Amino acid sequence: MAGPSVAIDLAAVEANARIVTARCAAHGIAVAGVTKGTCGMPEIAQAMLRGGVACLGESRLDNIARLREAGINASMMLLRVPALSEVDDVVRLADISLNSELRVIRALADAARRAGVVHRIVLMLDLGDLREGIWPSDLMLTVGAIVRLPGVQLIGLGTNLNCLGGVLPTQYNMAQLVAHAEAVRARFGLALPLVSAGNSGALPLLLAGGMPPGVNHLRIGEAILQGGRDTFFERPWSALRRDAFTLSCELIELKKKPSMPIGERGVDAFGTRPHFSDDGERLRGILDIGQQDVHPDSLVSLDAGVRVVGASSDHLVVDLTAMPGPPRIGQRLRFAMGYGSLLRAMTSPYVGKHGTSLRHGSPPFPARPMEDRRTPRPASSGSTE
Ligand SMILES: *Cc1c(COP(=O)(O)O)cnc(C)c1O
Repeated sequence: MAGPSVAIDLAAVEANARIVTARCAAHGIAVAGVTKGTCGMPEIAQAMLRGGVACLGESRLDNIARLREAGINASMMLLRVPALSEVDDVVRLADISLNSELRVIRALADAARRAGVVHRIVLMLDLGDLREGIWPSDLMLTVGAIVRLPGVQLIGLGTNLNCLGGVLPTQYNMAQLVAHAEAVRARFGLALPLVSAGNSGALPLLLAGGMPPGVNHLRIGEAILQGGRDTFFERPWSALRRDAFTLSCELIELKKKPSMPIGERGVDAFGTRPHFSDDGERLRGILDIGQQDVHPDSLVSLDAGVRVVGASSDHLVVDLTAMPGPPRIGQRLRFAMGYGSLLRAMTSPYVGKHGTSLRHGSPPFPARPMEDRRTPRPASSGSTE
């Protein structure tokens, strides 16, 4: 096997999906399995569906197209609010989209009428994280405008926390979302079946018993893919497996070198000023991967005695002085990845993706070139829900 690669254990993804969906179901909550951390890899989506997710969530239309092309008929939710320029693709590819701009919702309604469908939307409320969502004081006016639009059907309210502002879901802000949904139901006589309260970051509150009744939908990626490596950073949810994705790459240089750079110093390859401490001469290795493929700070070595020193675009430098067995050129080292590295590695066409799930005997997946996947899909694309 040449080149860096990610070994994917589909059985671990399926097992995590089963645990997350069962725990959510016990609270009356349905789960959209979010595949965006893997560029919408169809094999991952299928593992999530086997594990019991009700539908799939994706932030990019290209990834939804990839899932559709692989023949996946599950209901699909577009998570990133759509661009005005892509409304025709949205109504063609996605069953539901999260939205926050009335101008775009109007265009979606027009596109849906042109396509002869009714597109379902969830209106996003910003409850403080300051990424997407309308301000709650605009809720009633916005809903009033949406319900007059043939072509779209408002099926729920949603919110997203944790992502930009790092705002935590609490009993208080979750109850706010439920109360807003109740108010809209009362005022407009809508069923509004979906109260979609957040992402993996909502799970700690759920496990602690603090999720208010009325929340009935979550969109979960990280906890299923990574076993909550980032979500449950301080207090792991031990039932979840964190070993679904393992990166391996090859040692291409191995030398004793000083730990302090020599000579006058400016900035590194990315314009930042690196800091080093003088630990004397160290055994250093270079691995055949770099910033283009991983986020070096979020790599966790699975081999003893390996420390990441830094990376440029194509070189990952590691300190191997503490390795118990002497490393050799050509040896492969293995890493667990945080979300930042998973995202880059799965996106990088230079990193192979291989299935290791014995249970499903899945063949190796080829490293896929990033060709344009937004080609029309056949007309028979019915949604199942
Ligand atoms: C990415 C995303 C999710 C899933 O987030 P995870 O942390 O991977 O669970 C859910 N909702 C929205 C709107 C997203 O952008």
